[in-house]
Amino acid sequence: MSYKNYPMVSRVVFGRGCFNQLADIISPKRLNTRAPFIFLVDDVFKGDAWLNSRIPLAYDDQLIYISAEEEPKTSQVDELVEQIILTHKDRPSGIIGIGGGTLLDLAKAVAVMLTNEGESRDYQGWDLVKNPAIYHVGVPTISGTGAEVSRTTVLTGPEKKLGINSDYTPFDQVILDPELTKDVPKEQWFYTGMDCYIHCIESLNGTYLNAFSQSYGEKAFELCKEIFLDNDLSEEESQDKLMMASWHGGMSIAYSQVGVAHAMSYGLSFLLGTKHGIGNCIVFDHLEEFYPEGVALFKKMKKKFDIKLPQGLCANLDEQQFDTMIDVAISLEPLWENALGKNWKQTITREKLRALYEKM
Ligand code: NAD
Ligand code: ZN
Repeated sequence: MSYKNYPMVSRVVFGRGCFNQLADIISPKRLNTRAPFIFLVDDVFKGDAWLNSRIPLAYDDQLIYISAEEEPKTSQVDELVEQIILTHKDRPSGIIGIGGGTLLDLAKAVAVMLTNEGESRDYQGWDLVKNPAIYHVGVPTISGTGAEVSRTTVLTGPEKKLGINSDYTPFDQVILDPELTKDVPKEQWFYTGMDCYIHCIESLNGTYLNAFSQSYGEKAFELCKEIFLDNDLSEEESQDKLMMASWHGGMSIAYSQVGVAHAMSYGLSFLLGTKHGIGNCIVFDHLEEFYPEGVALFKKMKKKFDIKLPQGLCANLDEQQFDTMIDVAISLEPLWENALGKNWKQTITREKLRALYEKM
């Protein structure tokens, strides 16, 4: 048996207001005055002086606002890389991603693609990246995905939605400042928070579970229950705890896998563009037979925060569209194997998936 030897984020700073230390943290990493830092920032912060005044631009540094309306695409990564190369004389000193999973994944992908030839679609898969990425920093502004800690950057390409999973993908530095999440709208807070909750359920109930994943998964699960079910947390406590739950949830799946909700949600996302957090919720709501206790708690949380999930997403789909979604979901073999074991194909047929999608 050969065990996987994973890299981790090498540096992390945690605390309310620690975003103020960004300049001190990155300035020793500046290669020279022509090698800029590129800040990729969620455009929800455009015009937000509270955040922008603390982004330390100097020399040829560049700030690029990016919409998180759609999830990252391989073509978008390739365009950004080209734009950066054409605009600057030297290769950047670093890429700093500020935002949710969308911006964090874009920052990771751009950092990898600045040092690797070809197009990002060529690297979707496992361990295809040859050269180390340039220095990259992640600053989450919404908690749940675990993208700040993971070894992947999930991209939608022309043929598939799949991550660039590599030892060079993880951030060199992460800045965990829970205060940055203070203005996240309630629905989005819930959807992205549930991504973390679902990571825990899928990891803890999976056949790949081991003591490493379990120890992180249980902590994240406990924090999620405090945040989404208890009544006595202050807003600040809840923000702090969700940021750490996201981290632990991400660590938990690093050494195991996600499961049924993620496989099926990837199908929805590929065909309909349904975003990750809400897509997971829509799917998970119908997965009692796979995760009875997890789904029962989820329904309680949904009720507590008065969350109404969209219905009838698949009501008007044609045969071909169902086929596309089922192809995407069923191709994610490690997820199914984790969820149901080596004989998963006995339970998961195309008909079974079709019947489940029809409920959504
Ligand atoms: P997101 O990044 O798309 O952000 C969701 C919404 O919240 C956006 O409208 C954004 O503008 C807004 N937002 C973010 N921070 C805000 C703030 N502080 N105040 C107000 N609004 C704010 O959503 P997400 O759920 O964080 O990330 C989803 C993405 O993450 C997907 O692309 C998914 O594939 C990816 N993902 C990656 C991993 C990984 O390990 N790499 C894991 C899970 C999910
Ligand atoms: Zn997820």
